[in-house]
Amino acid sequence: RRALGSLGKSRAKFISAEERTGITFDDFAGQEYIKRELQEIVRILKNDEEFQDKGIYCPKGVLLHGPPGTGKTLLAKAIAGEAGLPFFAANGTDFVEMFVGVAASRVKDLFASARSFAPSIIFIDEIDAIGSKRGGPDIGGGGAEREQGLLQILTEMDGFKVSTAQVLVIGATNRLDILDPALLRKGRFDKIIRVGLPSKDGRFAILKVHARNKFFRSEEEKEVLLQEIAELTEDFTGAELQNILNEAGILTARKDLDYIGREELLEALKRQKGTFETGQEDSTEIPDELRLRLAYREAAVAILACYFPDPYRPFIETDINSIRSQPNMSYTETSGKVFFRKSDYINSIVRACAPRVIEEEMFGIDNLCWISAKATLEASRLAEFLILQTGMTAFGKAYYKNQSDLVPNLAVKLEALRDEYMRYAVEKCSSVLREYHSAVETITDILLERGQIKAEEIWDIYKKAPLIVQPAVNPVDEYGALIYAGRWGIHGITLPGRVTFAPGNAGFSTF
Ligand code: ADP
Repeated sequence: RRALGSLGKSRAKFISAEERTGITFDDFAGQEYIKRELQEIVRILKNDEEFQDKGIYCPKGVLLHGPPGTGKTLLAKAIAGEAGLPFFAANGTDFVEMFVGVAASRVKDLFASARSFAPSIIFIDEIDAIGSKRGGPDIGGGGAEREQGLLQILTEMDGFKVSTAQVLVIGATNRLDILDPALLRKGRFDKIIRVGLPSKDGRFAILKVHARNKFFRSEEEKEVLLQEIAELTEDFTGAELQNILNEAGILTARKDLDYIGREELLEALKRQKGTFETGQEDSTEIPDELRLRLAYREAAVAILACYFPDPYRPFIETDINSIRSQPNMSYTETSGKVFFRKSDYINSIVRACAPRVIEEEMFGIDNLCWISAKATLEASRLAEFLILQTGMTAFGKAYYKNQSDLVPNLAVKLEALRDEYMRYAVEKCSSVLREYHSAVETITDILLERGQIKAEEIWDIYKKAPLIVQPAVNPVDEYGALIYAGRWGIHGITLPGRVTFAPGNAGFSTF
C-alpha cells in the first residue's frame, strides 16, 4: 500500500485524507441501533473474503441523514477507524464551482484517489449540494454543472465491481427530501440511516463522552450534574452538548476553579441556548418591549402547559433571558410508560398556538413579531401529522408520509381538515388564555421582575387563579368530540366554568 503522503497536493486540495482517523464507535454516544448497524458493515469490510464466501457483500453506499451536529461525520470517521481504513473526505459544495467541468473531474479525482488506496472509505458531506433532484428548480444556479457531478458519482458507484476491493462511499445530508432518487437506488446508497436528535439517555451518554477529559469534584457529582443537564437539553444536538461542556470548562478556568460545578454548567447551557438563533454571545441587553413580549409568550405557554399537561414532557421552568423564536420553557422527558392518545395530539396543537395567540391578543394582529412566528409552523405541522400519519381522524386510516403523497382531491381534503383543526386549536387556545387571563398577567409580572419562574410556582398561580367563563368551543370532528368525552369522563375534570361534553348533546356545553 502506498503512503498517503503521496497524494498529489495540488490535484486534491478539496480532498482531506487521513490514513487513520483514530475515531472509534466509543466516541459516538446514544442511538445504539445506529452503531449496531454500522458495526455489521465494519465486520464485512474487515473480513471481506470470509463474508464473500457466504455471498454477503458490503453495501456500496451508506447515507447518513439528519440535522447538522448530530454526529454524521463522526460516524463516518468511526467506520474508517474501526475498520482501520484510510478516509477520504470532501464536501458536496466543493464540487460545485463556476467553472464548467470541474464538478465531474473533482468527483473523478476523489474516487481515483480512494481507489488507489482501496480498501478505503469516501465521505461526501452535504451531498445534497451536488446530488439534489435533477430538473428541479435551479436554486443558486450551476444546475448543469451539478448534474454533471451527480452523473459522475452515479457512474463511479456503478463502476465498482461488488466482488473486488472495496471503496465504501458514505454520504451525509440534512436534506434527504431533495436528493435525486437515482442516488438511492439499489447498488448505490442502498443503506440509509437516520441520525436523529438524541433522547434524554442519549444526551447523558454524549455528555459523558465529552466529560472524559474534564475535571469534576467526584464521579458521583459528575453523574448527577450531567443527568440534570441532559434533562434540560431537549432538542440539543451532540455538537451543542459538546459546546456546553467546553464552555463550562472555559468558565471554570476563567474563575480560577479546579472543578466544573453546577453553576458553570448552567451558565454554559444558557449561553448555548442564547446563541441558538440570535447568534449573540451575550443577550442580557434585551429591549424592554421585547422583554414584555417574551414574558407574555412564556406566561401563555406556561398556562397552556398547566391546562393541557403533556404526559410525555412535564415542564420545569421558564425564563425570558434569551431570545429565541421558540418558547424558552424547559421540559423533562419521561421515558417509557407513556402512550399518546388522540386527545394528546390535539392538545399539543392547541398548546403550540399559545405564542401566536397571546401576541395577537395583547399586541394586535398588525403588530405581531418574529418571536411567535414559529408557533404557527409548529401547530400546522402537528395537525398535519395527526391527520396524515395516525389514522385517527375523519381523514381516514391510511398513512401518508407527507403531503406530496396525496392525490389532488385528498390534498383538498387535508387542507380543509387541517383548517378545521387549526381553527379549533386557535379558538380553544384563546379561550383558555382569556379564562386564565389573571394568571397570565401574574406570571408575566413575575417574569419581568425576576427573569424566570419555576414549575411549582406556575402551578400554584394556575390553581388559585379566578376564572373568567368563556363560551364553548366547538370540537373538530365527530371523532374529536368522542375522544374528549372519554378523557374528561375518565378524569372527571368538570370544574365549574369549564367546557365539557354533555351526552346526548350535539357537542360541548358549559356547566
Ligand atoms: P454532523 O456531521 O452530523 O453535522 P458532526 O459529526 O460534525 O455532526 O458533529 C460535531 C461534533 O459533535 C462531533 O465531532 C462530536 O464531538 C460531537 N457529537 C455529535 N454527536 C455526537 C454523539 N452522538 N456522540 C458524541 N459526540 C457527538
